[in-house]
Amino acid sequence: MNTVKKLAFTLAFALLVLPTVASAQTYFRFPISMLADQCGNGGCTVSAYKDYGGRDYACGGVRYSGHTGTDYALVGGFGKMDYGVWVMNAARGYIEASVDGYYDRCNYWDQNNPYAACGLYTANYIIMRHPDNTQTKYWHLKKYTQQFARGTSLSCAYWIAQVGSSGASTGPHLHFEYWVPGYGTDDPYGGSCGTPFTRWTSQGAYRGLPGIACQ
Ligand SMILES: [Zn+2]
Repeated sequence: MNTVKKLAFTLAFALLVLPTVASAQTYFRFPISMLADQCGNGGCTVSAYKDYGGRDYACGGVRYSGHTGTDYALVGGFGKMDYGVWVMNAARGYIEASVDGYYDRCNYWDQNNPYAACGLYTANYIIMRHPDNTQTKYWHLKKYTQQFARGTSLSCAYWIAQVGSSGASTGPHLHFEYWVPGYGTDDPYGGSCGTPFTRWTSQGAYRGLPGIACQ
């Protein structure tokens, strides 16, 4: 093909394909309740962002090696976990996968023993699929607090389960992870050492919490 034909073909192909893939991007709210007795009043903090080879999205050091999501920790530890802090789905979507029933008071984990009670493969979790085909993952949930069955469609911001410490977890926190189909784990935060795009409706300050407005 000559260059003009090639360009024409590329354009035609792009026009044919674009309408099916370019559905509106999904944006997220902070995935835990911000009521006064939940994450409100300083009840939750960012304990680790996604790792970009030694830095977080904002070029800071709030990460650990190989970390693929963001950790939001309960300031009150296990006492606050027992009280009950609600994880909320960050956007409209459906529950694509979930696991429950694992021990939820882990305070250590051993990288060399991934199938131990507090190992890599023993977290209670929920995976949501959103209208733009992206996924959000909610990890380390408290045992038997999940409110909806697999396949359930939800509008934004339902109480879906409580924060726990199941799996590879050293204390009660939510590991929130954002996935893009065909790419894998991505970062909802935008910044100069990460992706240029934010996927939050309101990203908020560095080490603060994102906003709670739904898309
Ligand atoms: Zn994490």
